[in-house]
Amino acid sequence: MKIPILDLKLQYQQLKSEIDGAIALVLESTQFVLGPEVQKLEQEIASFLGVSHAIGVNSGTDALIIALKALNIGDGDEVITTPFSFYATAESISLVGAKPIFAQIEEDSFNINPLSIKEKITPKTKAIMPVHLYGQPAKMAQIKEIAQEYGLKIIEDCAQAFGAKYYGDCLGCEQKCSDNQRNSMDGKYVGGIGDVGAFSFYPTKNLGAYGDGGMITTNDDKVAELARMLRVHGAKKNYHNEMLGYNSRLDSIQATILRVKLRYIEKWNQARQNIARQYNQLLGNNDFIIVPQFSDGHVFHQYTIRVKNGKRDELKDYLADKGIGSMIYYPIPQDQLPVYEGQYIPHPLTTQLASEVLSLPIYPELPQGDIEAVADAIIQWTKNISD
Ligand SMILES: *Cc1c(COP(=O)(O)O)cnc(C)c1O
Repeated sequence: MKIPILDLKLQYQQLKSEIDGAIALVLESTQFVLGPEVQKLEQEIASFLGVSHAIGVNSGTDALIIALKALNIGDGDEVITTPFSFYATAESISLVGAKPIFAQIEEDSFNINPLSIKEKITPKTKAIMPVHLYGQPAKMAQIKEIAQEYGLKIIEDCAQAFGAKYYGDCLGCEQKCSDNQRNSMDGKYVGGIGDVGAFSFYPTKNLGAYGDGGMITTNDDKVAELARMLRVHGAKKNYHNEMLGYNSRLDSIQATILRVKLRYIEKWNQARQNIARQYNQLLGNNDFIIVPQFSDGHVFHQYTIRVKNGKRDELKDYLADKGIGSMIYYPIPQDQLPVYEGQYIPHPLTTQLASEVLSLPIYPELPQGDIEAVADAIIQWTKNISD
């Protein structure tokens, strides 16, 4: 048996003629960087997500950095974020000269805990950077309420959540948020809820290119204009540079591939949800594993279970022996990475979750038999260790 955690070949085989044709047109046009294909992708994504502006950049990391810069966040500022994410989240904050401040996370969603955000606010706080981890929207109504109360900006790290929809904070949550805000945001795509959204098109993401790429989304005209300048060396007009910027242009071959794939993203995200629902049903919770909370807007970039009693690595090895791939996202919380050595006190809950999480195979084309085989193997392992 060989079940990789992710297999991109099946999707390419299905789309080969469309994608190869689209790439050939770009090659013939010889417009390789930005240009009409990138503009069309930007328009299509803006209209898909329901935002005024979408700005293509080089990567998700650059999208975060440029978003922070466009909001004028830098030296001496603090940005509150989650400790439980890929390092690009905190790195972007550090790279612009600001200080990442790590809030607590929630046990059921793995996302930033709004109550903890409030405790971390100081006069230096400028922004909140929630991450929609594994494709699950963070509690945006409460986060927005806090941002409004304290005059903070919100940068959504949507790298794992293209197409995820926000349906309120109160699903399975005891903390009541104001009904007004919940209703006005209900059913909105992530990336259009905060001040700026940052997306990644890294090949393994839900909407993945065949190379690096990223996108900034916003409803703020001024932020959009600055982001457009920052991605091309701080210029509105070529050779009339007004500020320090970056070389962070999206290339046209990636854009044309993404335009093809955008037509399928809803279907693919639904397929991911179906797989997650099946795993949840087949596995269920027991003494050794906790399955993820299912919510309607969750796009399951990862399907991540918790393995109790210090047995996570044992299960990972067991699955590997059976030819089943699994991954640990993320073994070390961002604040405990060597880069920040000695700067932050570890959070007990984050430390615990980092030692329990295990992500299982999930991608839209995952064969039905593989879903069942993965679940069977885990149930068998559970039986073995209970005996
Ligand atoms: C992938 C990812 C990024 C970075 O995106 P790149 O395109 O690889 O630069 C940022 N944040 C999170 C949460 C991610 O998963």
